[in-house]
Amino acid sequence: MSPALACRRCGATSEQHGDRFCPVCGMPFVPAGEALEVTETRERARKVHPAYAEGQLVKVAWAPNQSEAELIAGLLLEEGVPSVIRRARGFDVPDFLAAGPRDVLVAAGGAEVASQMLAGKAAPPAATVTPTLRGVALAMLVIVTASVVIAVAAAMLV
Ligand SMILES: [Zn+2]
Repeated sequence: MSPALACRRCGATSEQHGDRFCPVCGMPFVPAGEALEVTETRERARKVHPAYAEGQLVKVAWAPNQSEAELIAGLLLEEGVPSVIRRARGFDVPDFLAAGPRDVLVAAGGAEVASQMLAGKAAPPAATVTPTLRGVALAMLVIVTASVVIAVAAAMLV
């Protein structure tokens, strides 16, 4: 008898699905008896996209203190980009504790994704932008997109 295998993420077993991979999550089945210990480190590692962890560290963001830096790091991690928080140059003094500015660094492989993501977060809301021709065009695009979404949603409901 082959050992029972199970999906770590959703608990589906190979007896139910008879496969090497969970059909729901796409995760490989592992021996069911193995202790499922989700540590913070493992949880973090699971989110990391390997390609975004390659290369030299580059600075992608700046934060005024540790907690805001951690917020940015958390957002990046949700996109699969691992990051390193470092005291900003000139403030590398432990006496500052959690205060003092921080640099957020990511591997070169994740730098572009991180920059795009952070640029998106930092963009001002459309309402505060003066309605230039470009702004009007963008607003129209948003309205058209919304209409299409609503039309599709309505069609699906029928
Ligand atoms: Zn699963």
